[in-house]
Amino acid sequence: MRLNRSRTSSNVEDRRSGRSGLGRGGSLGIGGIVLALVAMYFGVDPNVVLNLVDGPASTTSGSTVAPDDPQGQFVAKVLGDTEETWRSIFATQTNGQYPEPRLVLYRGATSTACGMGQAAMGPFYCPADQRVYLDLAFFDEMQRRLNAPGDFAQAYVIAHEVGHHVQNVLGIFEKHAAERQQPDRARANAVSVRMELQADCYAGVWAHHAQAQRAVLEPGDVEEALAAASAVGDDTLQRKAQGHVVPDAFTHGSAAQRMRWFQRGLDSGQLRDCDTFAAGG
Ligand SMILES: [Zn+2]
Repeated sequence: MRLNRSRTSSNVEDRRSGRSGLGRGGSLGIGGIVLALVAMYFGVDPNVVLNLVDGPASTTSGSTVAPDDPQGQFVAKVLGDTEETWRSIFATQTNGQYPEPRLVLYRGATSTACGMGQAAMGPFYCPADQRVYLDLAFFDEMQRRLNAPGDFAQAYVIAHEVGHHVQNVLGIFEKHAAERQQPDRARANAVSVRMELQADCYAGVWAHHAQAQRAVLEPGDVEEALAAASAVGDDTLQRKAQGHVVPDAFTHGSAAQRMRWFQRGLDSGQLRDCDTFAAGG
């Protein structure tokens, strides 16, 4: 991946130096509620998060990324590229302005406006404070255990979480909130899958425009992202965890679906082609 033409974001909060792993000044989320979220790779099911979004935004913050921290600088560059790219997509494809999300680097656990964030949940987005939360240990995990190495695989993960931010800003979370909270688990999960596949498609839309504007892709990069999308497919993860696949329990989509929607966004670059709710498959 080539990031030399991308600017460095100033929206990264580095909370990794906290002693306990808690965010500095860490109040424990809204109303003292500590949320025990189900551990899952690659993003919290947004309906879990949305049940609790009525609290005040988290006030904890961190420092900016040190200049001699290559991993932190890489994240800040990718985030900066998404900011630039989404600003232009919003200008041309929506009639709104793109409000930039913040990205929190943490270790182990940190407080968020959606409850306690834990590294075991994988990277996630909290709509209540418009922040992406990332423990960089997940990237090691992707490389070692999920067999999805590479810088563009990591960029795809960040772009997927930013995709959730785009959904939040566009009102898509809100629109589907009731469906995601219905008691029928299988149907609620199906809505969650549509939401996740759309975030994958948006990651592809980002890559399309970043490539057109700044030629960020090197040979093999798309394959890296597709391998990552496949590795975090629900069927792949379920097979690894329990040896068999239970489609009704899917919350993020199968490997084939995740690859297909990322590719679709990448090919088209159009938000309207990411209507996973209207599409089957
Ligand atoms: Zn997600």
